Amino acid sequence: MYEGVIQHLIDELGRLPGVGPKGAQRIAFYLLAADPADVRGLAAALIEMTERVRFCKTCGNVAEAEECRICRDTRRDPTIICVVEDPKDVAAVEKIREFRGRYHVLGGAISPIDGVGPDDLRVKELMTRLADGVVTELILATNPNLEGEATATYIARLVKHMDVRVTRPASG
Ligand code: ZN
Repeated sequence: MYEGVIQHLIDELGRLPGVGPKGAQRIAFYLLAADPADVRGLAAALIEMTERVRFCKTCGNVAEAEECRICRDTRRDPTIICVVEDPKDVAAVEKIREFRGRYHVLGGAISPIDGVGPDDLRVKELMTRLADGVVTELILATNPNLEGEATATYIARLVKHMDVRVTRPASG
């Protein structure tokens, strides 16, 4: 245990994913030794994120307006939707620079063990997007694990009666 301020920082850092008590301590002392201007820059970025970043009302991706950059881009193909679990998956697909369609971020995957069901995900929002018939292809790019497979299977079954081509990218 340390005195007030530094212990407070260690406690806060320790709540971050992947950062245990030891890691929190290491980061705290790194920041303590760093250039104060850099540390203030980090603090400002954190505050800016809480104030400006929200979730796109259409696709659920991170956005700085009502809709994200991709949904606002009229050059993107509105007939293809790539369904992913998290905003970081959108970033991963965008990095490859091949996909020119739109996205739908579910906000996770079906996981009975963790108590996550379809109603906890943005499945209803996806069905709403498919309702007008503009979308003709759905790429189910959920993660290649048990939960991701279950989610892809669930969605594929939901849209079975619709005139939508469903594909699942090969994993690995
Ligand atoms: Zn969007």
